[in-house]
Parts: sequence; C-alpha cells; structure tokens
Amino acid sequence: MKGLADKPNDIVELLEGGVTLEDVIDGHIYEQALVEKSAFVVGDLGALMRQHACWQSIVPQLQPYYPVKCNSSPVVLQVLASLGLGFVCTNKAEMNLALDHGVSPENIILSGVCKQLAHIKHAAKNNIQYLVCENEAELAKISRLHHSAKLLLQLTTDAHAAETSMAFGSSLKSCRHLLEVAKDQGVQVVGVTFTIPSSCSDLQQAYTHALSDARCVFDMGVDLGFNLNILDIGGGFTGSEFQLRQVESAVRPLLDAYFPPLSGVQVLAQPGTFYVASAFSLAVNVIGKKMVTCHWDSLTQGDNNEDTEFLYYMNEGVYGPFSCKLLGNSIAAPSVHKHVLCAEETAYPSSLCGPSLDDLDQVVERCLLPELSVGDWLLFSNMGAYSLEESICLSDSHQLPIYYTVSTSDWYEMQEAGVALDSTMKNVSMVHYSA
Ligand SMILES: *Cc1c(COP(=O)(O)O)cnc(C)c1O
Repeated sequence: MKGLADKPNDIVELLEGGVTLEDVIDGHIYEQALVEKSAFVVGDLGALMRQHACWQSIVPQLQPYYPVKCNSSPVVLQVLASLGLGFVCTNKAEMNLALDHGVSPENIILSGVCKQLAHIKHAAKNNIQYLVCENEAELAKISRLHHSAKLLLQLTTDAHAAETSMAFGSSLKSCRHLLEVAKDQGVQVVGVTFTIPSSCSDLQQAYTHALSDARCVFDMGVDLGFNLNILDIGGGFTGSEFQLRQVESAVRPLLDAYFPPLSGVQVLAQPGTFYVASAFSLAVNVIGKKMVTCHWDSLTQGDNNEDTEFLYYMNEGVYGPFSCKLLGNSIAAPSVHKHVLCAEETAYPSSLCGPSLDDLDQVVERCLLPELSVGDWLLFSNMGAYSLEESICLSDSHQLPIYYTVSTSDWYEMQEAGVALDSTMKNVSMVHYSA
C-alpha cells in the first residue's frame, strides 16, 4: 500500500448555497461525459457524522472501534479519528495509517487470526498493546515478540461459524487452555472478543450464546488470576438504524445481566460497514447492451413485453468495486441517472454485468429498469464498505476517482464535534462548490 505522501491531494468539496449531492453527481457525470466516461465515486462526509450520531444515541454504552480494512480512505480515517473512534487494524500498513491520523496506540487493536511476525513486532515497537489471539501458535508468537501485549481472546460463535466455512475463533474449552498457557508464559489476557455477522437470522439467540460464553471466559480468567475488563462484541452492523436497534434490544439486557456497569468492564464494538457504507455512491457507465428474448413460455404469455429482457455491460464489475459480489453479497439495483427517465417509462427485467466477459462478472441479476442506452449512467448507493480499496488490481481502472463532499450545514456540525479536515490533514484541501 502506498504511503500518504505518495498520494495526490484529496479534495473535499464544501457544498454551498443549496447545492445538493445530486447536483455534484450531475456535474461529475457531465465532466466525465466529455472525456472517457470513467466510473467514479462520490463520498458524503456528513453521512459519517450522522452515522456516528445515530450510534451514540442508540448504543452510547458501546465504544466504537473502526475496522480500517472496511474503507481506509485517508479522509474517512481522519473524520472518524477526530470523532474519537478507536481503530482495529489487521496489518502493519493499517497500524501506520491509524497512527498517521493521530490515533493513540491505546485506542488501536491489532486483530487477525494469524499475524505476521513483523506485524507483531511493529505493534510492540509502536506501543500498540491490544492484540487479538485465538490459538496457541499465535500466543507463542506474541509471547516471544511482544512483552507488553494485552490479549483479547477471540471466542467462536455459532453464527459466525455458520457463515464462514473456516473455523474461526476459539471454543470455550480451548479458551480455558489458552488462558492456562498465557498464565504459564506470563502473557496478560485482558478481555474477550467475538463477532456475530449481520446475516445472522436469530440475533437474540446468537448474542445470548456469545455473551454467556464470554461471561464464562471472564470467570475462568478471574480464577487464573487475570483481570479481564474488556468485552468486544465485534461487527455485523448493517448501517440501518432499525438493525442497530434490534441488536441493542438483544444485547442490552444481556450486558445488564452479565457485564453490568458496576463490573467495570469496558464494552466495545467494531462497526465498519455501519459507519461507511451509506457515505459512498458509485456512478458507472453503460458500455454495452443486448436484448435477450425468452422463447420458453411464449405460449402462456401474450405479445406483451414480459419476455423481453435486457443485458447491460457496465464499465466496472466484480474485478473492481463490486468485488464483494464474489464473496456472496448481493448488490442492490442501481438508480438510473435522471436525464434518461420519463415518468411512465416501462420497466424491463434487466441484468447488469461488468466489462470482463467472464461468467462470474455478474453484478445484478434481474432487476427492473427502464430501457437504457449505451452511454447512460447508473448510480449504486451504499458502496462505502469493502469496495474502494486499491488492492483490487484486476480492474483496468486502478483506483477510481473519489470526490468527497460535505454540505455546509453538516460541515458546521462536524466542526463543532471536533472535526478539522483542512487544518489537520496534510493531503486534503477543501474547495467551495456553489451553483
Ligand atoms: C471486518 C471485521 C469487522 C467489521 O465488520 P462489519 O460487519 O463490516 O462492521 C469487525 N470485526 C472484525 C474482526 C472484522 O474482521
């Protein structure tokens, strides 16, 4: 990953005089229409602050630690760092990013099932003490390379095991064993971490299991003379206020029972998607079109257009910003950029593919869209999580241009909350954008 210094400046557009995000998107579509019609991303920094406000009003007892792997754009990290979030890192580059944005080492957790030796040493050198650990081999490495480490034991949960085919985390029984080994080797254990994925269908049951298991690990730790005081309930927050309320109502009574405030246990969560997903939209261009006619049930259907289906090719696909499709996530249908829409246009079943001509490069299978033409623009919302990383190099567009925006009123609120992009960030400049 490139260092901050190698990057061109990020520009944040401050929207003045009633300019809306839609106006900005229109403007960039117009600009792009004159050149290569490349896809681009628009970020609304105000959305980060609104998600933070939502988090604080619904789960004020959960301290948010942001997983850098979710979206490591410097502007996002700077906003979240100045809002006071802690950071979860999985490697050296992410630890450096967090430190570069002024996050204090005690607010950084080094996570990951299997950490490279160099990364553990890097944490030790930079005084990052909180490390996640889930197995004995990892414990041996940490005990050798990081003498002041404070471990969070990763507890497995049924819900997480069901989602990932790989065994992840440590069972109750092996937690006991890990605690004993840690004791022998003189490594401090300070807490427990687990995660319930957002795909979990029974939140109540999942959190009940996980939190009662966590309580058992705390009790075992106390038996062995450890002082456990951190409970991390992980990620799995979709970004919707409704789902956050559901998690809150599942978790609150359990926390009250097992980890009441008087117990002195600090409770953390790792909301990644929650903070960033809604802040970014992706605009892509339609570069190809095919009409597919289905003959199979022409007997039952009249000569209406229900048997007409369109297949469109877009200039980005699963080897670019839609890579989470390859991990099994579905992508919601886009909206059509407005200049092609008239009020009562017929909608047709449509499928959207990326440009690679590879069978896997299917972004959206069958959604309803008005008939599009080559050159039209589609707008995908909720693209802020796991989409914008540079590591995906198969796409020929490399890094998509990202235009950051913030409305004047959001910007005032953010400044009151302590966000100061222009003065603290070396590589960000703010420009005024008015109609
Ligand atoms: C990726 C990750 C998260 C973030 O999960 P979201 O569902 O995106 O919030 C949290 N915790 C761990 C350990 C992760 O690896």
